[in-house]
Amino acid sequence: MKHKQKQITPKDIIVILNDALAKDRDAIRALMNHLTPCNDALAKRLDIVKNAASWRKRRPNNHNLPEDATHAVHLMDLFNGLLGSKDGVITPLQPLTCSSCGRYEHGSVGDTCLLCGQGKVCNGEITFFEHLHRRDFRAFQKIVTDDVVALFNEAFALDPVAISTLVNYRVPCNDALANHQTIQCGTAENWRKRRPNTHGLPDDAQGSVVGLLGLLNGIFGKPEGGPITATYDFICDACGATNVPELERKLVGDPCPLCPSGVIRIGPMVGFINLWKGEKP
Ligand SMILES: [Zn+2]
Ligand SMILES: [Zn+2]
Repeated sequence: MKHKQKQITPKDIIVILNDALAKDRDAIRALMNHLTPCNDALAKRLDIVKNAASWRKRRPNNHNLPEDATHAVHLMDLFNGLLGSKDGVITPLQPLTCSSCGRYEHGSVGDTCLLCGQGKVCNGEITFFEHLHRRDFRAFQKIVTDDVVALFNEAFALDPVAISTLVNYRVPCNDALANHQTIQCGTAENWRKRRPNTHGLPDDAQGSVVGLLGLLNGIFGKPEGGPITATYDFICDACGATNVPELERKLVGDPCPLCPSGVIRIGPMVGFINLWKGEKP
């Protein structure tokens, strides 16, 4: 089915992000704050100027980076990569906060807090998403789903581990977000069952979950089923076989043809497709 591709602007992205933030602040903050280590090639492609050292300084209490990471990518880097801006078109507003007493609203990141004299000034929680170049709204190109798929495939080719980790990442969300008109949320149960090897969920996660693609598809306004979809190879959960002819035409849940007790699951990510162009996963 050929679908006329909807063009979206930075403003469309900001409207949906702020809508999502209003519905479930904890989920959107968790999703946005999550940093994934990435390689030099991907950092260069996305113009990621704020490297891991900068994140550690800006969010001493609020980052998940391993000690040895030098570059990190997060969801906003992909949004801004789509919009083609070096400095970032969309930015989450994170009022300055003391890392120790939680107060403070002036100064610069890294300053010692004037109120308690102990903590450092850092970026607090996301309160709003805003446009960095409000007067230049029209200067940025409109994007369509094909642009998203092209960038994601390009990014995936540069650093498949980082992109699959970022795209597979899910956070628990509330009913208000799960029932959003366009944002697509799944359930922890389903995600864990279908992708035991690739889900990023904590063991105790329950109920609805949201991730990068659900949010991104929500921006394009289609209520269900894509259009931007990650595709995966199948894998046997017992013998680990993947990407072999024996697994072709298998479905999730089928018994493995190569070992006695295995079951077919979704395995490593292959890339991204646009379902509105009639491509099949
Ligand atoms: Zn303080
Ligand atoms: Zn097997």
